[in-house]
Amino acid sequence: MTSSLGWLRRRWAAKSAILMYHRVADPAGESDPWGLCVSPAHFAEQLAVLRECGTPLTLPALARSHERGEVPQGGVVLTFDDGYADNLHVAKPLLARHDVPATVFVTSGHVATEDELWWDELERLLLVPLRLPATLDLAIAGGMRHWDLGRAAVYADDDRRRDRGRRAWEGAPGSRHALYYAVWSLLLPLAARERRDVLDAIASWAGEPRRPRATHRVVRADELVELARGGLVDIGSHTVTHAMFPAQSAAAQAHELAESKAALEAILGAPITTFAYPHGERAPESPGLVRDAGFACACTVVAEPVWKGSGRYELPRFAVEDWGGDEFARRLTRWLQA
Ligand SMILES: [Zn+2]
Repeated sequence: MTSSLGWLRRRWAAKSAILMYHRVADPAGESDPWGLCVSPAHFAEQLAVLRECGTPLTLPALARSHERGEVPQGGVVLTFDDGYADNLHVAKPLLARHDVPATVFVTSGHVATEDELWWDELERLLLVPLRLPATLDLAIAGGMRHWDLGRAAVYADDDRRRDRGRRAWEGAPGSRHALYYAVWSLLLPLAARERRDVLDAIASWAGEPRRPRATHRVVRADELVELARGGLVDIGSHTVTHAMFPAQSAAAQAHELAESKAALEAILGAPITTFAYPHGERAPESPGLVRDAGFACACTVVAEPVWKGSGRYELPRFAVEDWGGDEFARRLTRWLQA
């Protein structure tokens, strides 16, 4: 009885939607195994739809409403994860043109380095080179792993074309995508230093020097200031190292939260009050740790609308892909009614 009443309460409650983006960049011609790119043309169409079908809202404003138990019907919040530089150079001018606010969750440890985020670096090492050695042996998490690449040692233009729209987990057995996904899965729970060691080992095996791509970098400190200037975009934390919380101790999670908050506040001279869990993943203790670190709310990647019964430190979000305006309108309408 209680649960069906709960369902009814939720069914008829007012709802807002938080949307999750990563990069605004043309994916054509590049591999995008996680579907992180929305093209600038599609992003502009989506913003126009958003103005028609919803009410743009900032994440801090939604968090304040939620705290009062008043989630607005049809509110839409835009968020970007990771802090890619194209958020400043490509997305922000389009946000300004359509007067739509957004929150960018920045992985603070990348602000002072040119290094790519680790899944991009792995993509450059395993999904870009035309030829790789026939076998790969890696020491990961105390064990040895071995792969025979077989036909995947050579990655011809035809293979690359075929794989362009393919997601990381969709690779056929023995393919480059399957290798990428297998190594990615092993790197995911590692602490940043261990992951760095494995990436260095793969780079030397592949004969690829460390050569971060400018297209994939995270904002520098001066760009972060520029991104926040004017108040349309506010900055949130996404940890220091993009740590996957369930694989980390409570102390390590607390350190990631406090350090990233302090580092971003030192650059911006303003409080950082919003947070997004890397990969959307949290341990049972994580929401309390985020609250204790002084944040007002936190976002996951659970694909649901926000209503007054949502946890403020586990706010759900919908991932947006490279859809044109019509497809985006269909989905947004459905999301706001879910
Ligand atoms: Zn992320």
